[in-house]
Amino acid sequence: MDFTLPDSALAVQRGIADICARYDLDYWQRCETDKRWPEEVWAELAKGGWLGLAVPEEYGGGGQGLLELAVATETLSASGSAGGSAFTYVLTPGFGAMTLARHGSRRQREQLLPRLATGEIETCFALTEPDAGSNALGISTFARRDGDEFVVKGQKIWITGVQRATWMLLVTRTVPAAEAKPRTHGMTVLLVNVPEAVAAGQLSFQPIPKMGANTTPSNMVFIDDLRVPAANVVGEVDQGAAVLWDILNPERILLAASALGGAEVALKVAVQYAKEREVFGRPIGANQAIAFPLAQVKAKIELARLMLYKAAWLFDNQRPCGTEANIAKLTASQAAWEAADHAFQTHGGMAYSLEYPVARLLADARIGKVAPVTEELLLNYLATQVLGLPRSF
Ligand SMILES: Cc1cc2nc3c(=O)[nH]c(=O)nc-3n(C[C@H](O)[C@H](O)[C@H](O)COP(=O)(O)OP(=O)(O)OC[C@H]3O[C@@H](n4cnc5c(N)ncnc54)[C@H](O)[C@@H]3O)c2cc1C
Repeated sequence: MDFTLPDSALAVQRGIADICARYDLDYWQRCETDKRWPEEVWAELAKGGWLGLAVPEEYGGGGQGLLELAVATETLSASGSAGGSAFTYVLTPGFGAMTLARHGSRRQREQLLPRLATGEIETCFALTEPDAGSNALGISTFARRDGDEFVVKGQKIWITGVQRATWMLLVTRTVPAAEAKPRTHGMTVLLVNVPEAVAAGQLSFQPIPKMGANTTPSNMVFIDDLRVPAANVVGEVDQGAAVLWDILNPERILLAASALGGAEVALKVAVQYAKEREVFGRPIGANQAIAFPLAQVKAKIELARLMLYKAAWLFDNQRPCGTEANIAKLTASQAAWEAADHAFQTHGGMAYSLEYPVARLLADARIGKVAPVTEELLLNYLATQVLGLPRSF
């Protein structure tokens, strides 16, 4: 067994870390406070070719896999961007590029992948609805066939990055959930040109005020008689669940990577503070009440990283990765939360000051326990699909 990262992933780690070394924690704090997209970092990532990492080489990308993308996300997050903005890095290089590379038609791949690789266009992913979050198959946004087009009506919630996206991966029902047998049948994924749909008055959105991750707004999305050419179906009509699983497993792995990076940066600031801050004439890190929780977090980070890389490797090698993706997401998010919480405790009252990064890291880390999938749903998966326990729902 060889536990070393391949050269391709090490090169990604070095490349992204070199860029991120020019942007400190204050930079990321300012982006959060000003609710500003990190334009400078994004431009450097685009220039370095890091946005097209997983785009096949024939379309101008790096031809890398999910492992390299996970390492990129972890490195970006660990540099100080933390879970919130690392998550939004995933929207285009992950959801958009990887999905179209696997499931896009030839025309979709030729038209979009080269521009996704350079960062000229961006994507967002619209699944969640006010009445269907954990119960994703229960969505009701409906796409009705009308000649060469689909006409879509519905509402989405929490859709992140709509403002910057040229294209939205919109998950719809073409068979109502109540009639679908099996329940996975009748899902259809559509590519929606966001600026055109907005200009036509067929799609609108409204940002949701949120407690963190403010570098990228998350939105309510209203869809009213939106006309989408049938050529914009990603994958097959009614068979969108296959596309969806290939979005959701990488999503779990990449957001595990983003959470893991968040855990790493929280631990780093906590350790630094624990060494420097003196109370009763000695560094607070000399107290085991401070040191042990941080040591525990270190152990949890290392464990979660093993599962993360394994899950990505399985996906890249076309092997089933559901269990590993779910365990990676569960454990990385828990590590992120515990790291941020203990970083907070280590900082004492100063944690509450926005002059320190801890409050931002805590808000970022909290997302991982509810999105893109809740901790309970991950445990449900392990309990029912892996352990074979009866379903409660
Ligand atoms: C910052 C942020 C960004 C997001 N970005 C996007 C995006 O870009 N695109 C997108 O499509 N979505 C996005 N989401 C939505 C996210 O995926 C959902 O919030 C998530 O799937 C949970 O759904 P919900 O909020 O409807 O919770 P619910 O499904 O309403 O669940 C509420 C609570 O009940 C629990 N629960 C429900 N059923 C069970 C059960 N059977 N057993 C045990 N517990 C249960 C859940 O675990 C949870 O704790 C984002 C969310 C956030 C917070």
